Amino acid sequence: MAQIIDGKKISTELKLELKDKVAKYKKEGIEITLAVIQVGNDKASSVYVGNKKKACEFIGIRSLAYELDENTTQEELLSLIKELNQREDVNGILVQLPLPKHIDEDMVIETIDAKKDVDGFHPMSVGALSIGKKGFISCTPYGIIELLKRSNIEIDGKECVVVGRSNIVGKPMSMLLLRENATVTTAHSHTKDLKEVCKRADILVVAIGKPKFINSEYVKEGAVVIDVGIHRNEDNKLCGDVDYDDVYPHVSAITPVPGGVGPMTIAMLMKNCVNAVEIQK
Ligand code: NDP
Repeated sequence: MAQIIDGKKISTELKLELKDKVAKYKKEGIEITLAVIQVGNDKASSVYVGNKKKACEFIGIRSLAYELDENTTQEELLSLIKELNQREDVNGILVQLPLPKHIDEDMVIETIDAKKDVDGFHPMSVGALSIGKKGFISCTPYGIIELLKRSNIEIDGKECVVVGRSNIVGKPMSMLLLRENATVTTAHSHTKDLKEVCKRADILVVAIGKPKFINSEYVKEGAVVIDVGIHRNEDNKLCGDVDYDDVYPHVSAITPVPGGVGPMTIAMLMKNCVNAVEIQK
């Protein structure tokens, strides 16, 4: 029977540990504050922002919510970020993506002080990760490493294939696995013979953004499969990039959707907020 990696349970354990750490900081007079900026009222973004606020409350992190109008100009947004960069009582700044089309996302990410970049998207954070320095790490791939470690899945020396090379998932995932001493292949839409490449993997991480794309033909017997994708299928049920039912009989461990990678993302955001105290020292 394959191990079903329980992201809900692991993220709860992690949040409880962080709650303790935050309480200890409070005793030392250190209060952690996260500023969350949302521009416009995209429904999915509002749900994500609400969940982040709830996680902050649970852990004991103060959250400041900035809900800006859809027509907010780029200058207005950048000026708010610069103000928050200056504030000593703010440890983390998060701008919920995607932003309205008239705002340049790269410019926004680069304006956030790298020492407060709790999403880990700033070029300085990405650079720090690639050269093995201390810094913020993109929450979803960071959460996947935590899931593997807490499920006692060895990464060192393993053959890992990451399907997807986005800046927020695929690329940092490959860098993190490399940092854990895996042999890493990054596959993408130009990869030739994707099935054969994926079949080499002891650990296969899938972040393609295509529902149930990966079936058992892509998976080596006994592999560990991590599914990052989140979609709604024709019955309005959540599913991933992996065809779970088809793949499950062939794996040694797998993340379900929902309840696998998803819950870890916000937990790791909280971890980054706690890490901010050290990074800012
Ligand atoms: P992107 O769309 O930014 O990237 C998708 C990647 O998949 C690209 O690198 C693309 O290659 C590659 N790709 C697309 N089609 C194929 C194919 N047929 N064969 C091989 N590679 C392919 O997506 P994200 O990385 O942002 O997200 C991926 C998925 O993860 C989505 O479903 C998203 O909703 C989900 N997600 C879940 C999170 C969570 O918390 N659980 C957090 C973030 C994302 P190329 O670069 O060549 O175009």
